[in-house]
Amino acid sequence: MNNLNFEESILIFILCLENKEFVVFLDIHNLSANINGKEILDNLCFEIDRGQVHAIMGPNGSGKSTLANVIMGHPKYSVTSGSIVVDGENILKLTTEERAKRGLFLGFQYPTEIPGVGYSHFLRNAYNILNKSLSGKQENREVFLTVKEFHEYLKKNLDNVGLQTTFLSRYLNEGFSGGEKKRSEVMQMLVLKPIIAILDEPDSGLDIDAIQAVAEAINILISNGAGVLIITHYARILRYLSKLDKVHVMSKGRIIKSGGKELSEELEVKGYGWIGLTDDTDNK
Ligand code: ADP
Ligand code: MG
Repeated sequence: MNNLNFEESILIFILCLENKEFVVFLDIHNLSANINGKEILDNLCFEIDRGQVHAIMGPNGSGKSTLANVIMGHPKYSVTSGSIVVDGENILKLTTEERAKRGLFLGFQYPTEIPGVGYSHFLRNAYNILNKSLSGKQENREVFLTVKEFHEYLKKNLDNVGLQTTFLSRYLNEGFSGGEKKRSEVMQMLVLKPIIAILDEPDSGLDIDAIQAVAEAINILISNGAGVLIITHYARILRYLSKLDKVHVMSKGRIIKSGGKELSEELEVKGYGWIGLTDDTDNK
């Protein structure tokens, strides 16, 4: 920079700023991954930026949960090619915890019960760890100095998803009903404030009221500025969302079609046969 004059320095500064805008928060390029030698993701490309809301739909077995798990670095999958870049950094070599520290969070399709791990203890630890990594990157992160303050924050968020305060003294997911587990997953996201929240079928197995409650909780995430990737089979939950930037259809490990909200409505009415797809589980 020493040899540059003032105008040149300003120009480079502006170019850097412009380039920064082109860095999409989560950028997945030509990603292929397999499990036990069986190829599931096939040169998949997908990107989602801060604050955006995307939905991925697609037949059973098309690889939606695999994609979510591979983004978070689940060790049972092997990535054979491509990249997953978060905020300009390739995260493929990072552990799941390190990925979480960069602001990614996955709500599981089938949340596991973890007896012995207290709900509020778990969330307070996770929140504090995330705060250390994300405090400079997210303005809306409160710092809770006392256990009591954090407890109040948890109570407010339990209320947001329609769960009772008594959940705080229970073990993580232990004995929760299907609906309670789903609400609990969204509640954890509300508490932790990830930059991109990935929700794998948050509506599966829920009655209509619970779907609406979960959607409203997701809307709080969205209003807090989180990006949301929601995997679902149904347009219903998407209808309740305050924002939906893109809908993608996945088949055989690839995104084969993208569109707006109308694409999800069309799929709901016409099914996947309309775009030439059947259940992928039979085709593999
Ligand atoms: P989706 O979430 O779209 O229904 P998944 O990502 O769960 O799809 O599964 C994609 C494919 O991976 C399916 O064909 C499934 O049978 C296969 N698969 C998932 N887990 C395993 C495993 N442990 N071993 C072999 N194949 C698996
Ligand atoms: Mg799945």
